Amino acid sequence: MPELPEVETVRRGLEPVLRGARLAKVRINRPDLRFPFPERFAERLEGARVEQLERRAKYLRFHLDTGETWVTHLGMTGRFTIDGEITADFEENAPVGGKHEHLSLTTDGGRRIGFSDARRFGYMALLPTAEVDAHPWFRALGPEPLGNAFNAGVLAAGFRGRKQNVKVTLLDQRVVAGLGNIYVCEALYRARISPLTPAGKVGPKRLERLATAVREVLVDAVEAGGSTLRDFANVEGGQGYFQHRFDVYGREGEPCRGEGCTGVVKRIVQGGRSTFWCPNCQK
Ligand SMILES: [Zn+2]
Repeated sequence: MPELPEVETVRRGLEPVLRGARLAKVRINRPDLRFPFPERFAERLEGARVEQLERRAKYLRFHLDTGETWVTHLGMTGRFTIDGEITADFEENAPVGGKHEHLSLTTDGGRRIGFSDARRFGYMALLPTAEVDAHPWFRALGPEPLGNAFNAGVLAAGFRGRKQNVKVTLLDQRVVAGLGNIYVCEALYRARISPLTPAGKVGPKRLERLATAVREVLVDAVEAGGSTLRDFANVEGGQGYFQHRFDVYGREGEPCRGEGCTGVVKRIVQGGRSTFWCPNCQK
């Protein structure tokens, strides 16, 4: 399942090809993904110029000069290709192209963009750009963790008075947008904060550390994305391409990588999701 860094990698891959480009010819090969495609979708896209490619949480939002915004959620296996090349590979066994390609378009620059989604959990919409932030998918979202508005103060406001543990609270999209289970585990480890701590009890210094850690784990993951992703997946023999970089996620029973720590990574379940952490390093 693509998390925020994977979606950002896709955005960065598409930006040089789509920004400023006119969508010359659009083809839809089936009526729906997880939900039906918008009405007259191809006609409404055709001829439009892409003014800006934005990511909000795990959504891609392409603002068009027609006053509409093309919104895409990648679901589990949704992938964009550029001239047949994958923009970011997070599910290496998911097929691309052929009968799994549900949308394709060419730009006025002669580039071909495809969207494949083998499991069809992805979805797309065309929304009036002026109203996109008010749409139910977006209106309750907190700030972007990679944006300028995110800092320890945002966390302090989101955590204030909350008895719920900090792990589950960080997954609350109203506190901060787009953070998934993997990167919450990694950020808490980096900030040396126990996932069991009630959110309201995390003090100012630790909030500073946590805000920095959230940003850093995401920046590192985005930087690990890019053109060599498929090679990574092959070399690692079937692992997800980010997985080898995780400090705690998916490492239950393995030695903690913390300097001087002789502890072992533990797994617990919080809010129905696995939390990986080092009880030695995280207090
Ligand atoms: Zn440790």
